[in-house]
Amino acid sequence: MVFRVRRSGVQGGQSLLSLRPVLRSALAQTNQTGYTGGVRGFKVKCMKQMAQGGGGATGGVSSVKISLRKTSLVDYPGKIASVLFFTGCNMRCPWCHNRELVLPEPTSARDADPEELVRLDQALAHIGKRRNVLGGVVLSGGEPSLYRDLPALIWRIKEMELAVKLDTNGMNPGMLEKLFQTKETAPDYIALDLKLAPLRYGEMALDVRMSARTLVSADSLRKSAELIRNSGIAHEYRTLALPTITEKDIAALAELTDDAPWYVRAFRPGNCLDPKWDDFEPSNARDAGALVDAIQALGKNGVSG
Ligand code: SF4
Repeated sequence: MVFRVRRSGVQGGQSLLSLRPVLRSALAQTNQTGYTGGVRGFKVKCMKQMAQGGGGATGGVSSVKISLRKTSLVDYPGKIASVLFFTGCNMRCPWCHNRELVLPEPTSARDADPEELVRLDQALAHIGKRRNVLGGVVLSGGEPSLYRDLPALIWRIKEMELAVKLDTNGMNPGMLEKLFQTKETAPDYIALDLKLAPLRYGEMALDVRMSARTLVSADSLRKSAELIRNSGIAHEYRTLALPTITEKDIAALAELTDDAPWYVRAFRPGNCLDPKWDDFEPSNARDAGALVDAIQALGKNGVSG
């Protein structure tokens, strides 16, 4: 479906006013899809059609495979949710447990098992059938903000009257800006990872082949945190009690936060991206508690969790 927008209305007997939310989101998408132009004769691809798999230039939501957790009681605060795990990440945190999602190449027979991944449109169909028992959908990964049809996907989930939570490492503020342009594409809840002091983010960078669009940098983290703080969207911060994190890291990260909950979780070695990290001792409640105390001492809303 292509709408040719004219000053006097939209072809096909539909009023421009009734289509305004669709067009607004589609326009927000234009940087991604490559469509350009002014108001007269402007062509936009209907977001709804893209979400249903007719993505054309963008591929649509049917063309990717994801990992689906059908039911979770812990990933979306206060809601029963399904979780979509996207493959690919623009970071390489050495402690990451999601190597099968992060690495482009299979690292074991299990990673290569195609049965573990499902097509996104199939996952959405499953979620649609269960929408009466679900309260929301969590978009996680990997790094879901790298999925370029994310605005259309969120649109489609919201059409099912389900809330959307986005988990992000904050390295793609450009996508956050796109999502926040309309309420139809804005997540209802965001969890932002705060890993180490911003200036230490280079320790988790992918190699130089990574595109500038998603460069791992302190600036990306600061920009994402600012966008989230000013978005009016409910959010939380998440930090792992890593063996290498210090109170200096917490103090530097605190500058990016507001009074939203800042959860500190224990680090557990095992299946880490860098096997050397499997030799670290797991952190315990006391380690995590010390970080929570440090957060609270800075006047922030530190929580064990
Ligand atoms: S950002 Fe998350 S998914 Fe990506 S490498 Fe780091 S821990 Fe893994």
